[in-house]
Amino acid sequence: MTTVTVWNEFRHERESDVVADLYPDGIHAVIAETLESAGFDTNTATLDEPEHGLTEAVLEETDVLTWWGHAAHDEVRDEIVDRVHEHVLDGMGLLVLHSGHYSKIFKQLMGTSCSLKWREAAERERLWVVEPGHPIADGLDEYIQLEATEMYGERFDIPAPDTLVFSSWFEGGEVFRSGCCYRRGNGRVFYFRPGHETYPVYHNEDVQQVLANAVAWAAPGDGPDPEFGNADPIEEIDLSDDRTVH
Ligand code: ZN
Repeated sequence: MTTVTVWNEFRHERESDVVADLYPDGIHAVIAETLESAGFDTNTATLDEPEHGLTEAVLEETDVLTWWGHAAHDEVRDEIVDRVHEHVLDGMGLLVLHSGHYSKIFKQLMGTSCSLKWREAAERERLWVVEPGHPIADGLDEYIQLEATEMYGERFDIPAPDTLVFSSWFEGGEVFRSGCCYRRGNGRVFYFRPGHETYPVYHNEDVQQVLANAVAWAAPGDGPDPEFGNADPIEEIDLSDDRTVH
């Protein structure tokens, strides 16, 4: 069974009544419940736990890590970021959510600033499914509509995704690459935009469907990799042939 660790900064929920009303036990509790009901073995970890809850033992048992952070990216210790990074390269899946675009781990994996345009005006958003055949879009209609969201707009300073699954339109006119697939080493990384803490985004059923689909997609598997057309994980490529000229 796929084991998921849901990581959350867990500060806004303890400091703001608005956020606490939406997520009384934290954003991580709602995401974990969603993934648990989707059939995944799910645990949670938060910033203020020792080693941010991400010990070597925890990561060793984690197939997919989900990441929500916003106000305290700088408080995530560099050695923990490096530890997560190594696990991704070794094959652990990573889902980076919403304001996690500015997390140390996402910036380190992307190698770019990951900056973007934003505005908080409770705007309507449509996340158009631009790859309807992709496993992350499984079970969705043509688009997901959120009635009130924080806007994220281009330019989003990321490397071109290997696959773009969602492209957002906002009421104010901006567009945004909202669902981005990457491979880093043996690990699969998915960035998913929705999730501002003052809106009930993680209670939305379509959003929950995407989270479950993305975990299934990012989990390390033994079979062929439809995303990248490569059946062999990098570590299993046989480099032992004697290629010297005789
Ligand atoms: Zn936000």
